[in-house]
Parts: sequence; structure tokens; C-alpha cells
Amino acid sequence: MSDFITRFAPSPTYYLHVGHGFSALKAYQAAKETEGRFLLRIEDIDQTRCRPAYEQAIYEDMDWLGIEYEQPVRRQSDRLSHYQQALELLRDEGVIYRCFKTRREIAAQASPEKLGPEGPVYFGQALDAEQEQELIAQGIAFAWRLSIKRVMERYGTQLANLYFTEQNQGPAGEKGAIKIKPHLAGDVVLARKDIGISYLLASVIDDAEQNISHVIRGQDLFYITHIQVLMQFLLHLPRPLYHHHRLITDLAGEKLSKSNHALSLRSLREKGVSVEQMKRRYF
Ligand code: GLU
Repeated sequence: MSDFITRFAPSPTYYLHVGHGFSALKAYQAAKETEGRFLLRIEDIDQTRCRPAYEQAIYEDMDWLGIEYEQPVRRQSDRLSHYQQALELLRDEGVIYRCFKTRREIAAQASPEKLGPEGPVYFGQALDAEQEQELIAQGIAFAWRLSIKRVMERYGTQLANLYFTEQNQGPAGEKGAIKIKPHLAGDVVLARKDIGISYLLASVIDDAEQNISHVIRGQDLFYITHIQVLMQFLLHLPRPLYHHHRLITDLAGEKLSKSNHALSLRSLREKGVSVEQMKRRYF
């Protein structure tokens, strides 16, 4: 067995579609070709959107695709308290702050021309301790945001030399050694009241703990990689190699969304379409 370990990490917020099928098969084949390992990880931290029925459908989809994965399958919802330790570490480092602003207030303040990979690009700062205490006492909800300003003050010089390796390419043809852009997504939210940890952070923690050597996923997540590599730096986690593959479209060339039922793996299966037919038609 080689050192190659990859994973498919879906979120059970809807039925998987042919694009997920492409991604899962790509990672699985890469593991097979290198005699490496393939893991399935259920990224179900957003308990407001995930459903057991969608998770069950993922296992059925894997069987249909002919994908074998190691047991036990890691489910992020089993580990929510574990992720809090990372958040505490970042808090001790002084690189995150409580943000009491509503989504609407953020949208109004964020630069309108700039929409980052995680929504509006916003830069803020911590309130003073007294103001914070007052708002907390009033029961006002807050999110933890990364302070890019603090990060740059502390680690700017080191970040100027922080790269990740793209083995395929990003949406604009980015290849090879990619220098990270810490400002790309602004002060990203790392935890919310209803979702204790952001998926981008939980994913990075699990990739490190599961010794993932190669992250193989769609180009829609390419720009998130900049933030995830920054997280790896702050949390002293190892950095895998990245392969962002092209995105599958429908037959009219339109981007697939999770809610596109007609192209869910489940509905293709129910219509009697075979995996080979699906590949010929959409891949
Ligand atoms: N859970 C993420 C999603 O379903 C994928 C994360 C990843 O592959 O890094 O979009």
C-alpha cells in the first residue's frame, strides 16, 4: 500500500448529483491507481440543513457507483466538541473575534463589487470587552470571525511565502505552486451560534487527522483552498496536495445545483440509467 490517501467528503444537505458522482469516482480511481486508500467522510456539521435520509442516500449512491470505502465512516456531527478545541486555539492566538453584526448589516458594509468564495468580503474588528459583555448579557448572537488584520500583523512575513500545490488547475487555469491570498474571503466566519464550526475549518482538521495526502474535489472549492491553507498554517496542520477537477454541467451546459433533482444519482438510478450510461452522457 502507498502513502496516497484521499477522500470524498459530501454534505448530506440534498441528494448527490452527477457532479458528485464524477468527483467521488475520480478520487476513488486515483486511490486505486496508486494502491492508496479511499475514505468517505460525511460532512454534516450544519444540523439545520443535513438530513439522515440524504446521508442514507449517499451510502446507496456509493454502492451504485461501485465505490468501496473504509469503515468506520467519519461523521463530523459525532465530533462537534472536538472542533471547538481548534477554535479555542485560534482564540488564544488572538486571531479571531466576536462579530455581533447581522447578515444584512454585513452585506451592507461589505464591498459590493467583491463577492468572495464565502459570500461578501468583509473586514471588521473586535469590540472592546465592555461592549461585548453588554451584548452577550442581552443575549445577542455572535459569530467568530477570523481577523485578517491580526493574522497579517502577526504572520504577514511568513504568509508571503505560503504556497499550496495544485496538481490539476483552478477555474482560471491556476496550476502548480499557488501563493495564498489571505485577503481573498475577508474575515471569514469560523463559527456561528447555530453552527458551532464552519465547514471549511472542520474539513481542514479532518483532512489532517485522517492523513489525507491528496484532496481531489471540484473547482468550485479552489478559492476556499486559500483560506484552508491559511487555517493549516495557523493550526500547525500538514498540507495535502490539491487536485481541483472540472465541473460537470447538465446537457445544456448549465452548472449543476444540489436542488437539481433530475440529475441526482438517485433519480438516474430509479430511471434505470446505468453508471456507464451516466458517464457517457455527462462526464
Ligand atoms: N463538504 C463539502 C461539500 O459537500 C466538500 C468539502 C471538500 O471536498 O473539501 O461541498
